[in-house]
Amino acid sequence: MDEITSDMSSNELQTELLKVVKALKGQVINRDSLSVGIDWKKSAGKTVSQVQTCNKTKDEMLKTVQREMADCQLCPLGKTRKNLVFGVGNPEARIVFVGEAPGADEDEQGLPFVGRAGQLLTDIIVKGMKIQRKDVYICNILKCRPPGNRNPQPDEISHCEPFLKKQLQIISPEIICALGTFAAKTLLKTDIPISALRGHFHLYEGIKLMPTYHPAYLLRNPSAKKQVWEDVQMIMKEVKL
Ligand code: URA
Repeated sequence: MDEITSDMSSNELQTELLKVVKALKGQVINRDSLSVGIDWKKSAGKTVSQVQTCNKTKDEMLKTVQREMADCQLCPLGKTRKNLVFGVGNPEARIVFVGEAPGADEDEQGLPFVGRAGQLLTDIIVKGMKIQRKDVYICNILKCRPPGNRNPQPDEISHCEPFLKKQLQIISPEIICALGTFAAKTLLKTDIPISALRGHFHLYEGIKLMPTYHPAYLLRNPSAKKQVWEDVQMIMKEVKL
């Protein structure tokens, strides 16, 4: 790169400035850290299906976050978990489901929603939405199981939330479906009950978010399935399924 001097012609100046911009861009996108806020291709419109940031695929970026938190001990759940449950599914998913926290089955297998509530979520996706589970992405607010499946505590949520935020930034889905009170309240930063939040779209960082009842709640209250189906149909309409 030449030195920029005051006697350069405007063409030369333009060429040099372009080189500087390219070099700076190269430095940013080659950084190993997650510069997920910088999304060069996406700003040109949503026509690029495989949005790549930092020259890495979404899959690679998610794996980077997963590695970052693999030995996480930011909260006491790090001591009691068997497995950290990061998330599973298509990194290019148009729909992301966010639950509360892993239960015993999930802790055992290191995968989200694999127990009874998970089977119901799978039914909603496969039988209801008529798509495959591997086409969506599924994760939780907390990545580690709270002992005895107690409710997540505020300090656990605040330590874990930045990782979820990165996941959602990377995937950048069209729709987030928040499953249950904790997911909805955490993502929307509100204390409004899920019964009032569900049934219409909200915005999470510019992404449409539909809160609905948690599948575990549906197991205890099957009559609420009707409302969940209404919410799911709104999602399907939005993504034209
Ligand atoms: N409940 C959740 O919220 N998440 C899981 O992964 C399983 C059950």
